[in-house]
Amino acid sequence: MAANRNSAEVGSPAAKPAFAKPSVTAGIYIHIPFCEKKCFYCDFYSIENHSQRDEFVNSLIREIELFSQSHSRLEADTIFFGGGTPSLLSAKELDTILNVLHRHFDITEDAEFTMECNPGTVNTEHLSDYRQLGVNRLSFGVQSFFDDELSFLSRIHNSKEAVEAIESARAAGFDNINIDLIYALPNQSKPRLAANLEKAVALNPTHISAYSLIVEPGTPLFSAVANGKVHTLDEATEAKMYESVMTFLEEAGYNHYEVSNYSRPGFECKHNLKYWNGEEYVGFGPSAHSHVSNTRWWNVSNLTGYIASLANNRTPISAKENLSKSQIVDEYVLLHLRQGKVDLKTLRAKFGITLESDFILEMNKAGYLNVSGDEIRLTRAGFTVCDEIAEEILAKHSVSV
Ligand code: SF4
Repeated sequence: MAANRNSAEVGSPAAKPAFAKPSVTAGIYIHIPFCEKKCFYCDFYSIENHSQRDEFVNSLIREIELFSQSHSRLEADTIFFGGGTPSLLSAKELDTILNVLHRHFDITEDAEFTMECNPGTVNTEHLSDYRQLGVNRLSFGVQSFFDDELSFLSRIHNSKEAVEAIESARAAGFDNINIDLIYALPNQSKPRLAANLEKAVALNPTHISAYSLIVEPGTPLFSAVANGKVHTLDEATEAKMYESVMTFLEEAGYNHYEVSNYSRPGFECKHNLKYWNGEEYVGFGPSAHSHVSNTRWWNVSNLTGYIASLANNRTPISAKENLSKSQIVDEYVLLHLRQGKVDLKTLRAKFGITLESDFILEMNKAGYLNVSGDEIRLTRAGFTVCDEIAEEILAKHSVSV
């Protein structure tokens, strides 16, 4: 299948039949590399200097055009504007980008269209414009409902603005809303975590992403931890907090469908599921990643370099890799386990791999896995050591081929 798709993608647009039905359905990711202020803990590519904003939009358009000249036309059933802070985009800028996407992709009528929003950058009018342009899902980086926690994270919004942003989204006609939370902050107490979860659930979003604070190399947070100015929680406390997040959100009716993601039934993020299920997606903008036909590539994480490449009609790709069978299998096991389950029958049928049972039985006995027929499922305790279990499975069963 991959080889067929590869060969179909080569060729000039002029050689394509005018009404050829797209053979591949992908997700589209657009990276907006601007933020009002860089957060203390963040390692996503974004900058505070907005002076090249017009050049960025023109370059983004050029990148989409260049992609479509070298690939056969794709159907897209998800669009995700991430960043950075996509909610800094004006309606006019968004409209311009969408017109180009519609020219070069067949976007399905029921496509999920997500826009990440910083609560400090939106109001009802702004969000109504997005709604009218087809955005149907908003993802808010709320992180906490406590002002001191927000100020530790150096967010630009306060808790009142976070609540107002969700209310504005509802007033603008959005009913599919995600709230991002960060927990396991230094000194965060359990009642604080519980209060954050209660406040999030009280706003009745369709989706909640709850991440523990990760100390990413290269961030100011990393230096602060290294210098002893910030003390992170110990692993056992963090694991207990994670278990309480799972319990609370599941009891509140949210389905835990990925390590850090919870949704009302039917409101899983379709775009992110593409990443986790090894499906196809095309990313545009600095640092954006793509995966088509078992090839993965990613763009330069540098706005000036991105603009310069496209000004010379060169794609801004930083590196490209053809996925080996062993990478595909490893990622399949890891990413499915992170979704809570691995179907052994699919593993056999897809890759001809049988997992030996000793380790699985050991994990079952220890309370980390439930085994039922051909399916292994993580328990709540299993989720707290999910990556370690995946690593052991991959090492013990030599599934790397
Ligand atoms: S707003 Fe989001 S992308 Fe921007 S710096 Fe903060 S965490 Fe990073």
